[in-house]
Amino acid sequence: MRLPLISIYLTERCNSRCVTCDYWRHGRTDATLESVQRLLPDLRTFGTRVALLSGGEPLLNPEWPQIAATLRAAGIRLWLLTSGLSLAKHALHVSKLFDSVTVSLDGTCPTTYRAIRGLDAFENVCAGIRAMAATGVPVSLRVTLQRANYHELPEFVTLAHALGVSQISFLAVDVGNAHAFARTEVVSPTLALERADLQRLAGLIDDLERECRADFESKFIAESPARLRRLHDYFAALLGAAPFPVVRCNAPEFSAVVTATGSVAPCFFIASPGIDTGSGLASGLADPRMRALRATIAAGGRAECERCVCSMWRDPAEIAAGRFLLREAAGG
Ligand code: SF4
Ligand code: SF4
Repeated sequence: MRLPLISIYLTERCNSRCVTCDYWRHGRTDATLESVQRLLPDLRTFGTRVALLSGGEPLLNPEWPQIAATLRAAGIRLWLLTSGLSLAKHALHVSKLFDSVTVSLDGTCPTTYRAIRGLDAFENVCAGIRAMAATGVPVSLRVTLQRANYHELPEFVTLAHALGVSQISFLAVDVGNAHAFARTEVVSPTLALERADLQRLAGLIDDLERECRADFESKFIAESPARLRRLHDYFAALLGAAPFPVVRCNAPEFSAVVTATGSVAPCFFIASPGIDTGSGLASGLADPRMRALRATIAAGGRAECERCVCSMWRDPAEIAAGRFLLREAAGG
């Protein structure tokens, strides 16, 4: 088995207060340096090239520098997914350890940011992004489009340029998965677009395609216009106005998720079938329950996949080359 990409959640804790997420409400556990060190022999065997460090907010784990340094010393390149709240403070240190940084940014002004992420931190996060970009490490923005921010679609692209990042990508808010984001229940469907919003979003995407042609061609906007229209179609489907766009994903075939509590899952949106990595990652992945789960996913038998907002398809050549980081990937 090959596993060129591994996602490791460094903590369940978070300093953000996102309306879509419960990590910040219930998260308590941090991964430890020792728990990550235990993964190393199997990561070597599996040919792991890239580790995505996420959470919760990974920079809240007091051992993040040691964990990052340990993975790096093992020849694994590092990708940080962060809320950006403490990036201004840590940018220099992060730049010495990470190859790529993705910051979640769901508003283009303090009001929208606060409405979605629950904090008055827009300027602080922007300062962190600027500081990170200034180090020369490629930085991308990840925007979760939802009712409260979709009308800012063009402003997000303008802001991304102003902040000096390398790329911006958009995904739709997930309102159907009860497991992701440590939820204890499905989030309110009112976060999604309403019928009256659909036409406006379609128009904004048309305008963006016309006015930001170079940004699409250069992949500064990670998604193609067609891919952005799938976000529109997803919202339309939630309203019963269209079928859900067909999802193409092979993430569990080249990656796995290790949570802060040490369990192993096939992806972010499908929970671990109760398997931990205490006896090693290889034995966790070889567990019959995990094999059965991955086979079911591959056969299209999991309902989560039909409405997944974060599906990931990689061509075999990209997988073989371990091209997952910004400027290397062809888009997810
Ligand atoms: S979505 Fe991410 S940044 Fe927001 S509270 Fe959850 S873990 Fe934190
Ligand atoms: S489509 Fe989504 S839920 Fe299904 S395997 Fe891919 S990432 Fe997981």
